[in-house]
Amino acid sequence: MTKFEALGLDKSLLDAVSDMGFETPSEVQEKAIPILLESETDLVALAQTGTGKTAAFGFPLIQKIDGNSRTTQGLILSPTRELCLQITNELQLYSKYEKNISVVAIYGGASITEQARQIKRGAQIVVATPGRMKDMIGRGLVDITKIDYCVLDEADEMLNMGFFEDIQDILSNTPNEKSTWLFSATMPKEVSIIAKKFMHSPQEITVGAKNSGASTVQHEYYVVSGRDRYPALKRLADTNPDIFSVIFCRTKRDTQKVAEKLIEDGYNAGALHGDLSQNQRDLVMNAFRKKQIQMLVATDVAARGIDVDDITHVINYQLPDEIETYTHRSGRTGRAGKSGISMVIVTRSELRKIKAIEKKIKQEFLQKNIPTGMEICEIQLYHLANKIKDTKINNDVDSYLPAINDVLQGIDREELIKKIVSVEFTRFYNYYNKTKDLNTSPDRSSDSGKSDTSFNSNGSVRYFINVGEKDGYDWMSLKDFIRDTVGLGKEDVYKVDVKESFSFFNTEAEVTEQILSTFTEFKVDGRFVNVEISKNPGGGGGGGNRRGKSFRDKGKRKKGPRNEDRGRGKGRDRGNSKNPNSGKRRSKKRKGDFF
Ligand code: ADP
Ligand code: MG
Repeated sequence: MTKFEALGLDKSLLDAVSDMGFETPSEVQEKAIPILLESETDLVALAQTGTGKTAAFGFPLIQKIDGNSRTTQGLILSPTRELCLQITNELQLYSKYEKNISVVAIYGGASITEQARQIKRGAQIVVATPGRMKDMIGRGLVDITKIDYCVLDEADEMLNMGFFEDIQDILSNTPNEKSTWLFSATMPKEVSIIAKKFMHSPQEITVGAKNSGASTVQHEYYVVSGRDRYPALKRLADTNPDIFSVIFCRTKRDTQKVAEKLIEDGYNAGALHGDLSQNQRDLVMNAFRKKQIQMLVATDVAARGIDVDDITHVINYQLPDEIETYTHRSGRTGRAGKSGISMVIVTRSELRKIKAIEKKIKQEFLQKNIPTGMEICEIQLYHLANKIKDTKINNDVDSYLPAINDVLQGIDREELIKKIVSVEFTRFYNYYNKTKDLNTSPDRSSDSGKSDTSFNSNGSVRYFINVGEKDGYDWMSLKDFIRDTVGLGKEDVYKVDVKESFSFFNTEAEVTEQILSTFTEFKVDGRFVNVEISKNPGGGGGGGNRRGKSFRDKGKRKKGPRNEDRGRGKGRDRGNSKNPNSGKRRSKKRKGDFF
């Protein structure tokens, strides 16, 4: 096995390597470092996330930089602020025994004057996001006209994020005779264009098959009906009690929604997306790094910078549009030689995407079933038994033992075990006891979702809600409002009957809990929106799924309080209808401005 010594690195760098605990170079390091040290060449290196690309360009770059000159000699472009900071941090560690090397990060969302000041003090290496870099060039705050090396890190992602033109502009400010090193997990067309346009007969290295996922990652998919995504996610989490995962959603809104639901359901979850402030994002990431957050729900862009080892599962709550994005997602797990699982929750209609991904990553997916409620109970039971077995005894309880023994007197060992285990188990049992099977057979041709409920159904429940026509709803907009607020599927709310100041609707009994808890202490524009189970189970009425009578003849769909304007005091007249059915209000607190 090659050691770092054999790669041609100076002593000061080898000392840093050993301080970092790196023993053997990764494949990309082994291939790239000698090439970059020995020659002045352009390089295209394709390697998955988590394969150690930072060190592959970082060590040669530091070795080649002249610490005695204050001129900026190396520029590293990377797609996100987080990544920028990570690279800067790593390079500072690599160069800790090189007295005079200064690495400065420049990125958006932070003071440009402060960054300019750091540059002015002399930064041989600048690590930048394209947007901020362009900005600083434009204002004359940074000079990259004398650089010898330019690294494009995560080139595919930078292009995905629309930085093509910025990169082009930035490169046009650099000398022609520099060396360009391009690192990327994948090689889509846009990356080859950049390579062709800005590089001179680059050497190429590829680690593993082109575009293939890290082989330490197992890929699995679960077929469910669209509106069962969330319960399926919960079951996957409950099946893996020690899960430490990133859950990918397609939109910021879904990301926020799924995270909030998980938190409400008692999981250690957090959201990471672009609508959060920099500060909020830092807080979430710190909590995740410290494993206070077990399930990080994230958008692709926000998760791009995550460099956290030990992630056990990547869960694709929804599949991405681009296959390449899947590679990035699954690359968040199975890092640094550890194994990981990438799970995909899909509907039948998306199955062909799985096939396309398999082709791309040259790895097969395992089709697995969402565990049934009872399977989860069993898993939790064993998990609990093991936890008890492995728990370190706290001897400070000794003094209380006599009293505890008094309390537990007369209970034999078997009964005691049953009781201890039941403390936790009953919680899961009560939740999962009567739940349905979430799996959808992948070969059934229709995906109506309806058949899933009528099968195994606990029956329909009719509700009363204290908003109506006066509040600007017709049956369609009210149905949308309920569905979106609760996070239900298209077919889940039916028989919606809108009266002047209140309305009725139906759902299957399975989601009753979800409906009632969502509309507890729930406010729209400062007013409580109350939902209760209707005393009248009849559930006739207009609307519903069929475009029946109801208010349809009023013509076009009226605008209900959709998510984007809820809770922002838009001042729509919401009437003042009193809830004729007012009764107990459940006590659970809930934010009015959900999502
Ligand atoms: P990439 O840029 O390819 O996604 P990184 O450079 O971020 O990967 O490295 C991933 C992780 O592996 C980091 O935690 C890094 O410190 C670690 N790492 C890199 N090279 C080695 C090595 N040779 N031995 C052990 N760990 C390494
Ligand atoms: Mg990297």
